[in-house]
Amino acid sequence: MTPQPDPEAGAAVKAADRAHVFHSWSAQELIDPLAVAGAEGSYFWDYDGRRYLDFTSGLVYTNIGYQHPKVVAAIQEQAARMTTFAPAFAVEARSEAARLIAERTPGDLDKIFFTNGGADAVEHALRMARLHTGRPKVLSAYRSYHGGTQQAVNVTGDPRRWASDSATAGVVHFWAPFLYRSRFYAETEEQECARALEHLETTIAFEGPSTIAAIILETIPGTAGVMPPPPGYLAGVRALCDKYGIVLVLDEVMAGFGRTGTWFAADLYDVVPDLMTFAKGVNSGYVPLGGVAISAEIAATFATRPYPGGLTYSGHPLACAAAVATINVMEEEGLVGNAASLGASVVGPGLRELAERHPSVGEVRGTGMFWAVELVRDRETREPLVPYNASGEANAPMAAFAAAAKKAGLWPFVNMNRTHVVPPLNTGEAELKEGLAALDAALSVADEHVR
Ligand code: PLP
Repeated sequence: MTPQPDPEAGAAVKAADRAHVFHSWSAQELIDPLAVAGAEGSYFWDYDGRRYLDFTSGLVYTNIGYQHPKVVAAIQEQAARMTTFAPAFAVEARSEAARLIAERTPGDLDKIFFTNGGADAVEHALRMARLHTGRPKVLSAYRSYHGGTQQAVNVTGDPRRWASDSATAGVVHFWAPFLYRSRFYAETEEQECARALEHLETTIAFEGPSTIAAIILETIPGTAGVMPPPPGYLAGVRALCDKYGIVLVLDEVMAGFGRTGTWFAADLYDVVPDLMTFAKGVNSGYVPLGGVAISAEIAATFATRPYPGGLTYSGHPLACAAAVATINVMEEEGLVGNAASLGASVVGPGLRELAERHPSVGEVRGTGMFWAVELVRDRETREPLVPYNASGEANAPMAAFAAAAKKAGLWPFVNMNRTHVVPPLNTGEAELKEGLAALDAALSVADEHVR
């Protein structure tokens, strides 16, 4: 995996990209995408021969790293045998993927509706919940991300994501727990849990329980800052859903498939939702795939009444073959356990040690291979290192941090004033330490911006 420099080829790739590719979530003329020549395991490289350790897993999805030979071979075999077949038919790769997923999802979530990714999984989960209950509203948390399509972006609890054409009718946001930024209201995790549950029940009462179809939550909110909920919170939400006949949807698109050191984050909290969305890690994103795992009760609603929804590529054989191979690789190589043990022995302690030495680190949070480092200008006031409405110049401290990490050979995940540490689950101890050393160098640059 020695990168062969080929700057001319890189320049051609870049020129075509700049001329014709319209990028997600971006002002098209303010971005400068890196031309990537290749990738393997936890590394990728550019056309100039620069190699980076990937602490982002792409967009937190390459849970088994890049180009795993067994998964690549499974996709090739499936392509040779049956590249595609319409969703109305029973196809081996699709049935097998559904079986392997259902065996790992918690409780009685035993029916799998396949989608092309996470946002459409959220769309369908909410449609199922509304049809099942006959109720119109959905409650979702501020500081959440559920995807970029119409309904998914509306339930996303971050106004910076809301497009001007969004229709937020039927969506109500609530204030889920996040002790680090709730400190004027709660001093301990227990108090924060109580505050958040009381607030949620009040919101349900004000909105009218009989109008609420679903509460959707990321089990551990990811994009908004990797915020593990306090003990008891999810069990409390489950109890409120049971009390008021509300469907609990846990969104495990990012947290699922081993990221947290368990198959699903819900396993950490012993909570079984009625619907669970997944994507990303299900097949490490080698071929687009997502889905909804459905409880027996909700599946029964559609036993003799047709479910009004579907996708041409639902359960695409190539994507499902990649899922079967990915799940088998995760079992054979013990990757869920690897994420748990290296998260607890290397990543967590390593990040906490960095927090002790770097004044720019406000808090370190996470579990498994799912961590966030919150960068602040001032540890006392917890003022973020960039303002929340950051743009242009105001981003300079985080841009300097990212540039220093890249110089040290690490590709960091940077979002607002945070860096998330989300490497592939099979990243080895030596590689993790190499990445932590690069973060150390980059945090020294962030420290220069501390007051
Ligand atoms: N839900 C969660 C929790 C996510 O993290 C994401 C993507 O990051 C999505 C949904 C949307 O998934 P996709 O980008 O595959 O549509």
